[in-house]
Amino acid sequence: PKYQSVALVLGVTGIVGNSLAEILPLADTPGGPWKVYGVARRPRPAWNADHPVEYIQCDLSDPHQTHSQLSQLTDVTHVFYVTWASKPTEAENCEVNGNMFRNLLDAVISNAPNLQHICLQTGRKHYIGPFEILGKVEPHEPPFHEDLPRLDVPNFYYTLEDILFEEVKKKEGLTWSVHRPSVIFGFSPYSLMNIVGSLCIYAAICKHEGKKLRFTGSRGAWNGYWDVSDADLIAEHQIWAAVDPYAKNEAFNCSNGDVVKWKHLFRVLAEQFELDIEDVGEEGGSEASLEEMMKDKGPVWDEIVKEKGLVPTKLEEVGNWWFVDLMFGVETSLDSMNKSKEHGFVGFRNSKTSFLTWIDRMKSYRLVP
Ligand code: NDP
Repeated sequence: PKYQSVALVLGVTGIVGNSLAEILPLADTPGGPWKVYGVARRPRPAWNADHPVEYIQCDLSDPHQTHSQLSQLTDVTHVFYVTWASKPTEAENCEVNGNMFRNLLDAVISNAPNLQHICLQTGRKHYIGPFEILGKVEPHEPPFHEDLPRLDVPNFYYTLEDILFEEVKKKEGLTWSVHRPSVIFGFSPYSLMNIVGSLCIYAAICKHEGKKLRFTGSRGAWNGYWDVSDADLIAEHQIWAAVDPYAKNEAFNCSNGDVVKWKHLFRVLAEQFELDIEDVGEEGGSEASLEEMMKDKGPVWDEIVKEKGLVPTKLEEVGNWWFVDLMFGVETSLDSMNKSKEHGFVGFRNSKTSFLTWIDRMKSYRLVP
């Protein structure tokens, strides 16, 4: 056959989905040549259209639509599940995300005879609990490793894992991997949680208004050690697990392999947008809510978009302020990559370079000036 493997990427316009769409079709990608199907609800955006992917519009929360659209993809060999729905409570997150994942697996497992492997992306909340209980339940102590027991609270990541473990039993030889990134540095104006994109937009607004760049997080977040996860690295990690026999039926952390401090990344951000940083004093931190600060900036953003001839976006879509506010309250966030290395994955990224790369991408695709 023309293709060695056939990928189905759920959430192909998301922050990791867009990286998978770019990397999977490359000539030197392990397991290739790959044919790639990509699924999302909205029409295909221009910034995703250059990737050689068969784009399918489908809402995974609708079981009938999912079945009629995706059960036809009988040549799929590998599934990359990089999507989710955000609901007000974790109970709803468990229900809605569980249903989406089940709808997908129902459509694919029994209809794709050559299906070999399912990659499920979850994340750091596996160790610290869902957003709604952050700070209310004792989290695990960093650095997080994959063998830590589950926290005794509802978590849609646990729901997804349990569905996965149940469903793979239905097909002889079908394998799985779970990928747990830290906060993701990547590119997607359609992402629900894009910290680099949000910070670029915040910086562009500061520039336009002639203000200094202010760090709105806590002192702990300014000074604390963090790891982050580059979206291309996560894509490479998932492709590794999809094709390497030593990576089967395991959960893996996935982070860049170095540590950063927001005080250093803010210097980079300020330089890229030619801004001065507001003095936060010796100790750092200024505890404000970006969500509050950006509440009335919609018209300002529209003005910037028009004046600079940017790709039209709405501030409430591209600025994920609630997420940045939550992240900037976290002091230390670190995992261990030992298990990945011990199983043979030695990929890494320089996080400062990664930050710069995605800022550049925001600029070159004309999402910010
Ligand atoms: P994104 O929010 O970046 O992208 C979601 C993708 O899924 C988009 O392509 C979206 O397009 C599509 N999508 C959303 N709903 C549906 C639906 N009902 N049917 C079909 N497609 C849909 O995803 P992430 O990569 O951020 O999230 C994946 C997982 O990674 C989540 O569990 C998340 O918690 C986790 N994670 C994310 C981090 C981050 O920093 N972003 C950090 C750590 C973990 P459209 O809206 O057009 O359908």
